[in-house]
Amino acid sequence: MKTVLVTGGAGFIGSHLCAELLKRGKYVICLDNFFTGSNRNIQGLIGNKNFEVMRHDIIQPIFLEVDEIYNLACPASPVHYQFDPIKTLLTSTVGMFNMLGIAKRCRAKILQASTSEVYGNAMVHPQPETYWGNVNCLGPRACYDEGKRVAETFMVDYFKENKVNIRLVRIFNTYGPHMAKDDGRVISNFIVQALLNKPLTVYGDGSHTRSFCYVADMVDGFIRMMENREDFIGPVNLGNPEEISIAALAKKIIALAGSSSTIEFRELPEDDPERRNPDISLAKKKLTWQPTTPLESGLKKTIAYFKETL
Ligand code: NAD
Ligand code: UDP
Repeated sequence: MKTVLVTGGAGFIGSHLCAELLKRGKYVICLDNFFTGSNRNIQGLIGNKNFEVMRHDIIQPIFLEVDEIYNLACPASPVHYQFDPIKTLLTSTVGMFNMLGIAKRCRAKILQASTSEVYGNAMVHPQPETYWGNVNCLGPRACYDEGKRVAETFMVDYFKENKVNIRLVRIFNTYGPHMAKDDGRVISNFIVQALLNKPLTVYGDGSHTRSFCYVADMVDGFIRMMENREDFIGPVNLGNPEEISIAALAKKIIALAGSSSTIEFRELPEDDPERRNPDISLAKKKLTWQPTTPLESGLKKTIAYFKETL
């Protein structure tokens, strides 16, 4: 039986990943500092004899014996990663270094949850992996974007210098059950606002776009990447190419939730990327992966989850 470490395992994507790995017969160690993760996300897994939870911060070294590492530890919502920018930087740099240390010592495979934010305010649409990005290294998003870029460099240099078996995935906006209701990201904000019949807060004029991937599709992509036999290390984009403006998303969520909410326009945050859309041809070719959940059905499942939690 393979022992798999999932850092950030009590978070939104991490909790779904832990559940799926258990289903597939792995022994799962879920490591989390519970900054944005919660016990609630993993409560259904507690009691499973192949599941172990550790409260730990990846900035601190740790010695574990594992076969695979999925490194997801890092707050993902702009509100949370900007709360303590230095901590965010340390998580993606010192934390990444610590996880690579385990991978090197144990000869474990390691997958890093990188992000479309490495492309910054992209000048190329859709974004292929070959695009180097347009990131402001001094702006409010830099602690996250530059941290994740350094993490990618760490991964690739450990591969070259120490032959560590790495996997790099660049995640585009992902949503679904287990997002925290106060997370600050657009889908959770809009659904909570719609269910409470409060105005939906659209930042800017609503013309900014994102492409949203349902969490089950993302987890499937992670596992395919970790287990691909060709030793394809990436980076590979994982996301749903269905692009939508934030204003159109707001209207869709109001309709699907059967809400009487209105739309309220607010100031656009600094450096907010204007368009984001993944080119997933590499994932299709190398992993035979593409998302299968259309936005509308994913939103319905997410709305049902928030109805229950609110
Ligand atoms: P999340 O905030 O729900 O999960 C992150 C988890 O990491 C939380 O449980 C948090 O408590 C934990 N964590 C944070 N810092 C830690 C530290 N120093 N030590 C240990 N645990 C720590 O976010 P998510 O959406 O589940 O994102 C998971 C990963 O995927 C992140 O690395 C994020 O950057 C990446 N990602 C997510 C998206 C998305 O749209 N959800 C997009 C791009 C990249
Ligand atoms: N956004 C919005 N209202 C909200 C939250 C976010 O209009 O209540 C916008 C935000 O400005 C951005 C998009 O939605 O253009 C996605 O934001 P999110 O924080 O979810 O993710 P990211 O910017 O990291 O893609």
